[in-house]
Amino acid sequence: MAEKKEGHIVMVPFMAHGHLIPFLALARLIHQHTSFSITIANTPLNIQHLQSAISSSSSDLQLASLPFQPISHGLPPNIENAEKIPPPLFPNLGLAALSLQPHLRSLISRITQEEGRPPLCIIYDVFLGWVSDVAKSFGTKSIAFTTCGAYGTIAYMSIWLNLPHRKSDSDEFYVPGFPENYRFHRSQLHRFLKQADGTDTWSRFFQTQIALSMKSDGWICNTVEEIEPLGLQLLRKFIGSPVWTIGPLLPANSGMDLKHRAGKEPGIPLEKCIEWLNLHPERSVLYISFGSQNSISETQMMSLAQGLEQSGKPFIWVIRPPFGQDKNRDFETEWLPEGFENRAKETKRGLLIRNWAPQLEILSHKSVGAFLSHCGWNSVLESLSHGVPIIGWPLAAEQAYNSKMVEEEMGVGVELTRTVESVISGEEVKKVIQRVMERGEEIRERANEIAEQIRRAKEEENGSSATAMHDFVRTVVS
Ligand code: UDP
Repeated sequence: MAEKKEGHIVMVPFMAHGHLIPFLALARLIHQHTSFSITIANTPLNIQHLQSAISSSSSDLQLASLPFQPISHGLPPNIENAEKIPPPLFPNLGLAALSLQPHLRSLISRITQEEGRPPLCIIYDVFLGWVSDVAKSFGTKSIAFTTCGAYGTIAYMSIWLNLPHRKSDSDEFYVPGFPENYRFHRSQLHRFLKQADGTDTWSRFFQTQIALSMKSDGWICNTVEEIEPLGLQLLRKFIGSPVWTIGPLLPANSGMDLKHRAGKEPGIPLEKCIEWLNLHPERSVLYISFGSQNSISETQMMSLAQGLEQSGKPFIWVIRPPFGQDKNRDFETEWLPEGFENRAKETKRGLLIRNWAPQLEILSHKSVGAFLSHCGWNSVLESLSHGVPIIGWPLAAEQAYNSKMVEEEMGVGVELTRTVESVISGEEVKKVIQRVMERGEEIRERANEIAEQIRRAKEEENGSSATAMHDFVRTVVS
């Protein structure tokens, strides 16, 4: 039942697809539940993406383009999204976002003037903590939205804020906020985090924005209460504010063409992909993707290809230039073993998709038996919503903590390796694929249980996600 209330909500996502997609899904969900006006504000090119994603569906959502000059912040021209920038420049993108502040203030002033009162709240990305101060200065509520899960969020926030690995000589270390006996490993830190000392650009960006986000009036977390009990208990204690678990926020997938999903064209027509999947028996196909920004190294790509051939399993692999290459280059066949793509094509054993795949349709197809994933949180949620077990290969951000939780807390996956630096053989790849796909009954059962918990949380009238949404709405109008 929609809760009919007047009011305006402004949303400010971080400039990366893994953030824009759940923000858009959240906007749609709030829209379904309320009669609030919703405006999503961002840089011009990200607004263009969102525009193409919403043009056919939710015309009630408004978009506000905030002026942004990438080159004034040491970013390449016309690049406004993490997808297109080299990893070392990631925090520069975050710091550059601070220049949006005066434009966001103008937007809020205009809304306040036109409507005779400020917006009910501003929902902003945890990486854009400065928005909290903008909200407070207008007397509007500030709500931080973490597009990550609760466990990944507290692990990543606490490690950035405390840099605990710098206080330990051993490879294993304690992370404040976790139970006393809990340990993380140095190899679970991406290379910029490993090197961080509190004075570098990465630390300056993350520490400041996270600390500001912790001053918000409440948090929305893209997760489901029942699937992450430990993570949620720890996160609530750590930040001391309400946390609404309204997930899973997945891109809408029915009755919408793919371009209108994420504003991205897949590298293959959907029908071709489904036709290929239809050729294969139930739960036999391994889907491989490293998300919208990351890629493995060239030597790792070779080993993965060899392991795939040795495993004998059919696969769909979303390929991008390897780590270290210009992300915007075309894919070179020399990055894979000689004849690999042709053999895959001729035997119909493998489908290589360039750049962008229709991920949700693939994961919801009955032929898919496992997902080799970088464990970006959206990918984890999308996989588990369809009961698909995960083979983890975390690369950046909080992915290593998602992968740890998937294996140790949820029991729905096995980690294959970590980071772009690891050395891995085809044989190891083959073994893990076979372990999960041939002997993974227990893992599959757990994945199906989690899929059912997610379904109930979202679809049942008193489900936890529906209840959290009602509670959030009550709080912002109070
Ligand atoms: N995605 C997709 N096709 C691709 C790659 C990614 O549809 O080829 C979508 C995926 O379904 C998910 C998002 O992009 O919704 C990626 O988010 P995630 O958190 O998994 O990883 P990130 O890209 O943020 O590292």
